[in-house]
Amino acid sequence: MTDENTQAQQTEADKRQNPLGMHDILPDMHEYFTYIKKVVRHRARQAGYKRITTPILEFTDVFQRGIGDATDIVGKEMYTFTDRNERSLTMKPESTAGVVRAYIQHGMKEWPQPVQLYYIEPHFRYDKPQKGRYRQFWQIGLEIIGESDPALDAQVIDLANRINQDLGIAHLFTIQINNIGCPKCRGKYKQDLVNFYIGKERSLCEDCQNRLHKNPLRLLDCKQEDCQILAQLAPKFDQYRCPECKEFHTKLKDYLTELKIEFVENPKLVRGLDYYTGTVFEVWDKTQGAQNAIGGGGRYDGLAELMGGLPTPGVGYAAGIERIIANMKKENVRVPSKDDIHIFVAQLGDDAKKKCLTLLNDLRERGVKAVGALGKGSMKAQLRLADKFKVPYTLILGITEVREGVIIIRNMAKGQQRTVPHDTVIEEVIKLIGDDKLDKYSPGEVLY
Ligand code: AMP
Repeated sequence: MTDENTQAQQTEADKRQNPLGMHDILPDMHEYFTYIKKVVRHRARQAGYKRITTPILEFTDVFQRGIGDATDIVGKEMYTFTDRNERSLTMKPESTAGVVRAYIQHGMKEWPQPVQLYYIEPHFRYDKPQKGRYRQFWQIGLEIIGESDPALDAQVIDLANRINQDLGIAHLFTIQINNIGCPKCRGKYKQDLVNFYIGKERSLCEDCQNRLHKNPLRLLDCKQEDCQILAQLAPKFDQYRCPECKEFHTKLKDYLTELKIEFVENPKLVRGLDYYTGTVFEVWDKTQGAQNAIGGGGRYDGLAELMGGLPTPGVGYAAGIERIIANMKKENVRVPSKDDIHIFVAQLGDDAKKKCLTLLNDLRERGVKAVGALGKGSMKAQLRLADKFKVPYTLILGITEVREGVIIIRNMAKGQQRTVPHDTVIEEVIKLIGDDKLDKYSPGEVLY
Protein backbone atom coordinates (compact mmCIF):
# COMPACT_ATOMS: atom_id res chain seq x y z
CA MET A 1 0.00 0.00 0.00
CA THR A 2 1.46 3.37 -0.90
CA ASP A 3 1.69 6.09 1.64
CA GLU A 4 -0.81 8.17 -0.35
CA ASN A 5 -3.39 5.36 -0.01
CA THR A 6 -2.66 5.18 3.67
CA GLN A 7 -3.24 8.90 3.95
CA ALA A 8 -6.50 8.67 1.98
CA GLN A 9 -7.80 6.04 4.36
CA GLN A 10 -6.74 7.98 7.40
CA THR A 11 -9.50 7.96 9.96
CA GLU A 12 -10.35 10.79 12.30
CA ALA A 13 -8.64 8.81 15.09
CA ASP A 14 -5.42 8.56 13.01
CA LYS A 15 -5.40 12.31 12.60
CA ARG A 16 -5.15 12.68 16.35
CA GLN A 17 -1.83 10.78 16.25
CA ASN A 18 1.54 12.23 15.33
CA PRO A 19 2.24 12.30 11.58
CA LEU A 20 3.77 9.12 10.17
CA GLY A 21 7.55 9.01 10.71
CA MET A 22 7.54 11.89 13.19
CA HIS A 23 7.70 11.10 16.85
CA ASP A 24 7.31 12.64 20.26
CA ILE A 25 10.43 12.76 22.37
CA LEU A 26 9.15 11.60 25.73
CA PRO A 27 11.03 12.25 29.01
CA ASP A 28 12.97 8.94 29.06
CA MET A 29 14.22 9.55 25.53
CA HIS A 30 15.12 13.12 26.53
CA GLU A 31 17.50 11.76 29.14
CA TYR A 32 19.48 10.25 26.27
CA PHE A 33 19.15 13.42 24.18
CA THR A 34 20.47 15.53 27.05
CA TYR A 35 23.40 13.22 27.62
CA ILE A 36 24.33 13.07 23.91
CA LYS A 37 24.13 16.86 23.63
CA LYS A 38 26.39 17.15 26.69
CA VAL A 39 29.01 14.82 25.20
CA VAL A 40 28.91 16.57 21.82
CA ARG A 41 29.09 20.06 23.35
CA HIS A 42 31.98 19.05 25.57
CA ARG A 43 34.03 17.36 22.84
CA ALA A 44 33.24 20.06 20.26
CA ARG A 45 34.20 22.88 22.63
CA GLN A 46 37.45 21.16 23.58
CA ALA A 47 38.38 21.18 19.89
CA GLY A 48 37.40 24.82 19.34
CA TYR A 49 34.04 24.34 17.59
CA LYS A 50 31.27 26.88 18.18
CA ARG A 51 27.57 26.13 17.97
CA ILE A 52 25.39 27.24 15.08
CA THR A 53 21.64 26.92 14.51
CA THR A 54 20.24 27.62 11.08
CA PRO A 55 16.49 28.04 10.50
CA ILE A 56 14.25 25.02 9.97
CA LEU A 57 13.14 26.65 6.70
CA GLU A 58 15.48 27.71 3.91
CA PHE A 59 14.73 28.84 0.39
CA THR A 60 14.43 25.65 -1.66
CA ASP A 61 17.24 26.88 -3.89
CA VAL A 62 19.75 26.40 -1.05
CA PHE A 63 19.23 22.63 -1.23
CA GLN A 64 18.63 22.37 -4.97
CA ARG A 65 21.97 23.99 -5.72
CA GLY A 66 23.92 22.48 -2.89
CA ILE A 67 22.67 18.90 -2.57
CA GLY A 68 21.74 18.57 -6.24
CA ASP A 69 18.52 17.96 -8.17
CA ALA A 70 19.47 14.41 -9.07
CA THR A 71 19.77 13.19 -5.47
CA ASP A 72 17.05 11.23 -3.67
CA ILE A 73 16.87 13.93 -1.03
CA VAL A 74 16.07 16.76 -3.44
CA GLY A 75 14.25 14.65 -6.02
CA LYS A 76 11.91 12.75 -3.71
CA GLU A 77 12.28 13.55 -0.05
CA MET A 78 11.96 17.27 0.61
CA TYR A 79 9.08 18.91 2.45
CA THR A 80 8.68 21.86 0.11
CA PHE A 81 5.86 24.38 0.01
CA THR A 82 5.06 27.81 -1.30
CA ASP A 83 4.59 30.46 1.34
CA ARG A 84 1.97 33.22 1.34
CA ASN A 85 4.26 35.30 -0.82
CA GLU A 86 4.73 32.61 -3.49
CA ARG A 87 8.29 31.80 -2.41
CA SER A 88 9.38 28.19 -2.38
CA LEU A 89 10.59 27.13 1.06
CA THR A 90 11.89 23.76 2.27
CA MET A 91 12.16 22.21 5.73
CA LYS A 92 15.84 21.42 6.01
CA PRO A 93 16.66 17.81 5.08
CA GLU A 94 20.25 18.29 6.31
CA SER A 95 22.29 21.17 7.71
CA THR A 96 25.52 21.51 5.72
CA ALA A 97 23.95 23.52 2.89
CA GLY A 98 22.36 25.93 5.41
CA VAL A 99 25.59 26.27 7.39
CA VAL A 100 27.53 27.12 4.21
CA ARG A 101 24.79 29.59 3.26
CA ALA A 102 25.26 31.20 6.69
CA TYR A 103 29.07 31.23 6.27
CA ILE A 104 28.72 33.18 3.03
CA GLN A 105 25.90 35.45 4.25
CA HIS A 106 27.65 36.48 7.47
CA GLY A 107 31.07 36.97 5.89
CA MET A 108 32.65 34.27 8.05
CA LYS A 109 35.65 34.25 5.72
CA GLU A 110 36.77 37.30 7.72
CA TRP A 111 36.83 35.18 10.90
CA PRO A 112 39.99 33.24 11.83
CA GLN A 113 40.11 30.30 9.41
CA PRO A 114 39.10 27.56 9.36
CA VAL A 115 35.72 28.24 10.97
CA GLN A 116 34.68 25.25 13.09
CA LEU A 117 30.98 24.89 13.80
CA TYR A 118 28.78 22.23 15.35
CA TYR A 119 25.00 21.78 15.43
CA ILE A 120 22.31 19.69 17.08
CA GLU A 121 19.24 20.00 14.88
CA PRO A 122 16.04 18.35 13.65
CA HIS A 123 15.82 17.46 9.95
CA PHE A 124 12.97 16.47 7.69
CA ARG A 125 12.90 13.96 4.84
CA TYR A 126 9.84 12.47 3.20
CA ASP A 127 11.37 9.01 3.33
CA LYS A 128 9.61 5.67 3.79
CA PRO A 129 9.36 5.33 7.57
CA GLN A 130 10.89 2.15 8.97
CA LYS A 131 13.13 1.12 11.86
CA GLY A 132 15.84 3.78 12.22
CA ARG A 133 14.41 5.86 9.37
CA TYR A 134 12.03 8.68 10.15
CA ARG A 135 10.59 11.77 8.53
CA GLN A 136 11.70 14.00 11.34
CA PHE A 137 15.02 12.99 12.87
CA TRP A 138 17.78 14.71 14.78
CA GLN A 139 21.41 15.00 13.84
CA ILE A 140 24.56 16.17 15.54
CA GLY A 141 26.99 17.66 13.07
CA LEU A 142 30.48 19.11 12.75
CA GLU A 143 31.77 21.40 9.99
CA ILE A 144 35.25 22.84 9.34
CA ILE A 145 35.02 25.54 6.66
CA GLY A 146 37.67 27.68 4.99
CA GLU A 147 40.69 25.41 4.64
CA SER A 148 41.57 22.21 2.84
CA ASP A 149 44.02 19.78 4.36
CA PRO A 150 43.83 16.04 5.00
CA ALA A 151 44.74 16.76 8.64
CA LEU A 152 41.35 18.50 9.01
CA ASP A 153 39.51 15.50 7.52
CA ALA A 154 41.41 13.26 9.96
CA GLN A 155 40.45 15.52 12.86
CA VAL A 156 36.75 15.44 11.95
CA ILE A 157 36.85 11.63 11.75
CA ASP A 158 38.75 11.52 15.05
CA LEU A 159 36.17 13.71 16.79
CA ALA A 160 33.27 11.65 15.40
CA ASN A 161 34.99 8.52 16.68
CA ARG A 162 35.72 10.06 20.08
CA ILE A 163 32.06 11.06 20.50
CA ASN A 164 31.01 7.48 19.69
CA GLN A 165 33.56 6.19 22.21
CA ASP A 166 32.21 8.50 24.92
CA LEU A 167 28.70 7.28 24.16
CA GLY A 168 29.85 3.66 24.57
CA ILE A 169 29.02 2.55 21.03
CA ALA A 170 32.20 3.02 18.94
CA HIS A 171 33.01 -0.71 19.06
CA LEU A 172 29.79 -1.49 17.15
CA PHE A 173 30.93 0.41 14.07
CA THR A 174 33.60 0.53 11.38
CA ILE A 175 34.80 3.71 9.73
CA GLN A 176 34.60 3.35 5.96
CA ILE A 177 36.58 5.83 3.90
CA ASN A 178 37.03 6.67 0.24
CA ASN A 179 38.13 9.57 -1.95
CA ILE A 180 35.78 10.34 -4.82
CA GLY A 181 38.13 12.83 -6.48
CA CYS A 182 37.86 16.39 -7.64
CA PRO A 183 35.78 17.60 -10.61
CA LYS A 184 38.90 17.15 -12.77
CA CYS A 185 39.43 13.43 -12.19
CA ARG A 186 35.79 12.61 -11.51
CA GLY A 187 34.50 14.00 -14.83
CA LYS A 188 36.35 11.45 -16.95
CA TYR A 189 35.44 8.66 -14.53
CA LYS A 190 31.72 9.55 -14.61
CA GLN A 191 31.77 9.46 -18.41
CA ASP A 192 33.44 6.03 -18.49
CA LEU A 193 30.99 4.79 -15.87
CA VAL A 194 28.00 5.88 -17.99
CA ASN A 195 29.59 4.23 -21.05
CA PHE A 196 30.02 1.00 -19.06
CA TYR A 197 26.35 0.93 -18.07
CA ILE A 198 24.95 1.87 -21.49
CA GLY A 199 23.42 -1.26 -23.00
CA LYS A 200 23.03 -2.83 -19.52
CA GLU A 201 20.17 -0.61 -18.38
CA ARG A 202 17.70 -3.49 -18.25
CA SER A 203 19.72 -5.17 -15.51
CA LEU A 204 19.48 -2.07 -13.33
CA CYS A 205 16.74 -1.26 -10.84
CA GLU A 206 14.33 1.53 -11.76
CA ASP A 207 16.08 4.07 -9.51
CA CYS A 208 19.47 3.33 -11.07
CA GLN A 209 18.03 3.57 -14.58
CA ASN A 210 16.88 7.08 -13.69
CA ARG A 211 20.15 7.98 -11.99
CA LEU A 212 22.42 6.75 -14.77
CA HIS A 213 22.77 10.03 -16.64
CA LYS A 214 22.12 12.36 -13.71
CA ASN A 215 24.17 10.88 -10.90
CA PRO A 216 26.10 7.81 -12.16
CA LEU A 217 28.32 7.51 -9.06
CA ARG A 218 25.24 6.55 -7.03
CA LEU A 219 24.94 3.33 -9.07
CA LEU A 220 27.99 2.07 -7.21
CA ASP A 221 26.34 2.04 -3.80
CA CYS A 222 22.86 0.81 -4.79
CA LYS A 223 21.67 -1.92 -2.41
CA GLN A 224 19.80 -3.97 -5.09
CA GLU A 225 21.49 -7.30 -5.80
CA ASP A 226 21.62 -6.99 -9.62
CA CYS A 227 22.98 -3.46 -9.39
CA GLN A 228 25.63 -4.64 -6.93
CA ILE A 229 26.77 -7.39 -9.31
CA LEU A 230 27.21 -4.85 -12.10
CA ALA A 231 28.93 -2.41 -9.75
CA GLN A 232 31.58 -5.08 -9.04
CA LEU A 233 32.40 -5.17 -12.77
CA ALA A 234 32.26 -1.40 -13.33
CA PRO A 235 35.49 0.58 -13.78
CA LYS A 236 37.14 1.42 -10.45
CA PHE A 237 37.88 5.01 -9.52
CA ASP A 238 41.41 4.20 -8.27
CA GLN A 239 42.80 4.33 -11.79
CA TYR A 240 41.27 7.76 -12.43
CA ARG A 241 42.32 9.62 -9.29
CA CYS A 242 44.59 12.56 -10.16
CA PRO A 243 48.00 12.86 -8.41
CA GLU A 244 46.72 15.63 -6.08
CA CYS A 245 43.72 13.57 -4.94
CA LYS A 246 45.93 10.49 -4.56
CA GLU A 247 48.35 12.40 -2.35
CA PHE A 248 45.49 13.88 -0.29
CA HIS A 249 44.04 10.42 0.31
CA THR A 250 47.39 8.87 1.21
CA LYS A 251 48.02 11.63 3.73
CA LEU A 252 44.57 11.21 5.26
CA LYS A 253 45.26 7.51 5.79
CA ASP A 254 48.67 8.34 7.31
CA TYR A 255 47.08 10.79 9.74
CA LEU A 256 44.34 8.35 10.73
CA THR A 257 46.98 5.72 11.41
CA GLU A 258 48.93 8.26 13.46
CA LEU A 259 45.75 8.93 15.47
CA LYS A 260 45.32 5.15 15.92
CA ILE A 261 41.93 5.18 14.22
CA GLU A 262 40.97 1.96 12.51
CA PHE A 263 39.35 2.40 9.11
CA VAL A 264 38.25 0.33 6.15
CA GLU A 265 39.05 1.54 2.67
CA ASN A 266 35.86 1.19 0.62
CA PRO A 267 36.19 2.11 -3.08
CA LYS A 268 32.41 1.83 -3.58
CA LEU A 269 31.51 4.43 -0.97
CA VAL A 270 30.13 7.53 -2.73
CA ARG A 271 27.47 9.09 -0.40
CA GLY A 272 24.16 10.43 -1.57
CA LEU A 273 24.77 14.13 -1.99
CA ASP A 274 26.23 15.94 -4.99
CA TYR A 275 28.31 18.35 -2.96
CA TYR A 276 30.95 15.86 -1.86
CA THR A 277 34.45 16.05 -3.35
CA GLY A 278 37.54 14.11 -2.30
CA THR A 279 37.19 12.48 1.11
CA VAL A 280 33.95 10.68 1.94
CA PHE A 281 33.41 8.49 5.00
CA GLU A 282 30.63 6.64 6.80
CA VAL A 283 30.31 4.97 10.17
CA TRP A 284 28.82 1.55 9.44
CA ASP A 285 27.23 -0.98 11.72
CA LYS A 286 29.61 -3.97 11.98
CA THR A 287 26.84 -6.47 11.29
CA GLN A 288 24.39 -4.59 9.07
CA GLY A 289 26.84 -2.38 7.15
CA ALA A 290 25.43 0.68 5.42
CA GLN A 291 21.83 -0.30 6.32
CA ASN A 292 22.24 0.97 9.83
CA ALA A 293 24.98 3.57 9.38
CA ILE A 294 25.11 5.92 12.29
CA GLY A 295 26.73 8.82 10.50
CA GLY A 296 28.68 10.02 7.55
CA GLY A 297 30.48 12.95 6.08
CA GLY A 298 33.16 14.19 3.79
CA ARG A 299 34.73 17.10 2.01
CA TYR A 300 32.63 19.60 0.06
CA ASP A 301 35.12 21.96 -1.53
CA GLY A 302 32.75 23.01 -4.35
CA LEU A 303 29.65 23.72 -2.25
CA ALA A 304 30.19 27.41 -1.41
CA GLU A 305 30.73 28.21 -5.09
CA LEU A 306 27.62 26.26 -6.11
CA MET A 307 25.73 28.50 -3.72
CA GLY A 308 27.08 31.70 -5.24
CA GLY A 309 29.97 32.27 -2.83
CA LEU A 310 33.72 32.38 -3.36
CA PRO A 311 35.49 29.02 -3.64
CA THR A 312 35.67 27.82 -0.01
CA PRO A 313 36.72 24.32 1.03
CA GLY A 314 34.95 22.47 3.83
CA VAL A 315 34.68 19.11 5.54
CA GLY A 316 31.98 17.81 7.87
CA TYR A 317 30.18 14.98 9.59
CA ALA A 318 26.61 14.29 10.70
CA ALA A 319 25.19 11.47 12.82
CA GLY A 320 21.60 10.50 13.62
CA ILE A 321 20.64 10.93 17.29
CA GLU A 322 17.78 8.39 17.19
CA ARG A 323 20.16 5.75 15.82
CA ILE A 324 22.77 6.64 18.42
CA ILE A 325 20.15 6.15 21.15
CA ALA A 326 18.98 2.82 19.69
CA ASN A 327 22.59 1.59 19.80
CA MET A 328 23.16 2.90 23.34
CA LYS A 329 20.05 1.04 24.48
CA LYS A 330 21.19 -2.11 22.65
CA GLU A 331 24.49 -1.90 24.55
CA ASN A 332 22.69 -1.17 27.85
CA VAL A 333 24.48 2.16 28.15
CA ARG A 334 22.65 3.90 30.99
CA VAL A 335 22.58 7.65 31.17
CA PRO A 336 22.26 9.56 34.43
CA SER A 337 18.67 10.55 35.12
CA LYS A 338 18.64 14.18 36.12
CA ASP A 339 14.86 14.24 36.36
CA ASP A 340 14.59 12.28 39.63
CA ILE A 341 12.72 14.28 42.28
CA HIS A 342 14.36 14.66 45.72
CA ILE A 343 11.44 15.80 47.84
CA PHE A 344 7.67 15.63 47.80
CA VAL A 345 5.78 18.20 49.87
CA ALA A 346 2.38 17.15 51.24
CA GLN A 347 0.05 19.61 52.96
CA LEU A 348 -3.33 19.88 54.59
CA GLY A 349 -5.29 23.07 55.23
CA ASP A 350 -5.17 26.55 53.72
CA ASP A 351 -2.37 27.90 55.91
CA ALA A 352 -0.21 24.86 55.22
CA LYS A 353 -0.77 25.22 51.48
CA LYS A 354 0.37 28.86 51.60
CA LYS A 355 3.52 27.94 53.52
CA CYS A 356 4.22 25.15 51.01
CA LEU A 357 4.30 27.60 48.10
CA THR A 358 7.28 29.44 49.63
CA LEU A 359 8.84 26.26 50.96
CA LEU A 360 8.87 24.71 47.48
CA ASN A 361 10.50 27.81 46.02
CA ASP A 362 13.10 28.00 48.79
CA LEU A 363 13.98 24.31 48.34
CA ARG A 364 14.34 24.75 44.57
CA GLU A 365 16.51 27.86 44.98
CA ARG A 366 18.99 25.71 46.95
CA GLY A 367 19.03 23.00 44.23
CA VAL A 368 16.55 20.58 45.81
CA LYS A 369 14.25 19.15 43.11
CA ALA A 370 10.85 19.37 44.80
CA VAL A 371 7.23 18.85 43.81
CA GLY A 372 4.15 19.42 45.90
CA ALA A 373 0.58 18.20 45.75
CA LEU A 374 -1.17 21.53 45.97
CA GLY A 375 -4.54 20.20 44.87
CA LYS A 376 -7.25 18.96 47.19
CA GLY A 377 -6.19 15.33 47.82
CA SER A 378 -6.32 13.72 51.29
CA MET A 379 -3.03 13.15 53.12
CA LYS A 380 -3.26 9.42 52.23
CA ALA A 381 -3.73 10.23 48.55
CA GLN A 382 -0.80 12.66 48.63
CA LEU A 383 1.49 10.06 50.20
CA ARG A 384 0.45 7.56 47.53
CA LEU A 385 1.42 10.14 44.93
CA ALA A 386 4.77 10.67 46.67
CA ASP A 387 5.37 6.92 46.32
CA LYS A 388 4.67 7.14 42.60
CA PHE A 389 7.30 9.89 42.25
CA LYS A 390 9.72 7.46 43.97
CA VAL A 391 11.01 10.26 46.21
CA PRO A 392 13.27 9.29 49.14
CA TYR A 393 11.65 11.87 51.50
CA THR A 394 8.33 13.63 51.91
CA LEU A 395 7.76 16.78 53.97
CA ILE A 396 4.40 16.86 55.70
CA LEU A 397 2.79 20.08 56.81
CA GLY A 398 -0.67 19.94 58.44
CA ILE A 399 -2.71 22.32 60.57
CA THR A 400 -0.89 21.29 63.81
CA GLU A 401 2.57 21.61 62.26
CA VAL A 402 1.78 25.13 61.00
CA ARG A 403 0.53 26.12 64.43
CA GLU A 404 3.64 24.73 66.16
CA GLY A 405 6.12 26.04 63.56
CA VAL A 406 7.44 22.57 62.72
CA ILE A 407 7.43 20.17 59.80
CA ILE A 408 7.53 16.36 59.51
CA ILE A 409 10.24 14.65 57.43
CA ARG A 410 9.17 11.17 56.34
CA ASN A 411 11.69 8.62 55.11
CA MET A 412 9.63 6.89 52.42
CA ALA A 413 11.61 3.63 52.26
CA LYS A 414 11.61 3.05 56.03
CA GLY A 415 8.25 4.65 56.78
CA GLN A 416 9.90 6.57 59.67
CA GLN A 417 9.05 10.16 60.55
CA ARG A 418 10.64 12.89 62.64
CA THR A 419 9.64 16.47 63.37
CA VAL A 420 12.00 19.43 62.88
CA PRO A 421 11.57 23.21 63.34
CA HIS A 422 10.25 24.79 60.13
CA ASP A 423 13.18 27.19 59.80
CA THR A 424 15.79 24.38 59.83
CA VAL A 425 14.03 22.07 57.40
CA ILE A 426 15.94 23.14 54.30
CA GLU A 427 19.34 22.50 55.93
CA GLU A 428 18.05 19.13 57.20
CA VAL A 429 16.87 18.16 53.73
CA ILE A 430 20.17 19.17 52.12
CA LYS A 431 22.06 17.04 54.67
CA LEU A 432 19.86 14.06 53.82
CA ILE A 433 20.19 14.42 50.04
CA GLY A 434 23.88 15.32 49.99
CA ASP A 435 25.29 18.55 48.66
CA ASP A 436 26.76 16.84 45.59
CA LYS A 437 23.33 15.60 44.47
CA LEU A 438 21.74 19.05 44.36
CA ASP A 439 20.67 20.55 41.04
CA LYS A 440 22.19 23.98 41.40
CA TYR A 441 21.60 26.66 38.79
CA SER A 442 24.28 29.27 38.60
CA PRO A 443 23.10 32.47 36.94
CA GLY A 444 25.30 33.36 34.00
CA GLU A 445 25.32 29.81 32.70
CA VAL A 446 22.82 29.45 29.89
CA LEU A 447 21.01 26.14 30.03
CA TYR A 448 19.43 24.35 27.10
P1 AMP B 1 23.01 11.63 5.84
O1 AMP B 1 22.75 13.09 6.10
O2 AMP B 1 22.00 11.02 4.93
O3 AMP B 1 24.41 11.35 5.49
O4 AMP B 1 22.78 10.91 7.21
C1 AMP B 1 23.68 10.93 8.29
C2 AMP B 1 23.08 10.13 9.42
O5 AMP B 1 21.83 10.71 9.81
C3 AMP B 1 22.72 8.70 9.05
O6 AMP B 1 23.83 7.85 9.17
C4 AMP B 1 21.64 8.39 10.07
O7 AMP B 1 22.21 8.08 11.33
C5 AMP B 1 20.92 9.71 10.19
N1 AMP B 1 19.74 9.72 9.29
C6 AMP B 1 19.69 10.08 8.00
N2 AMP B 1 18.44 9.99 7.52
C7 AMP B 1 17.67 9.56 8.54
C8 AMP B 1 16.28 9.26 8.70
N3 AMP B 1 15.42 9.40 7.69
N4 AMP B 1 15.85 8.84 9.91
C9 AMP B 1 16.71 8.70 10.95
N5 AMP B 1 18.02 8.97 10.87
C10 AMP B 1 18.51 9.38 9.69
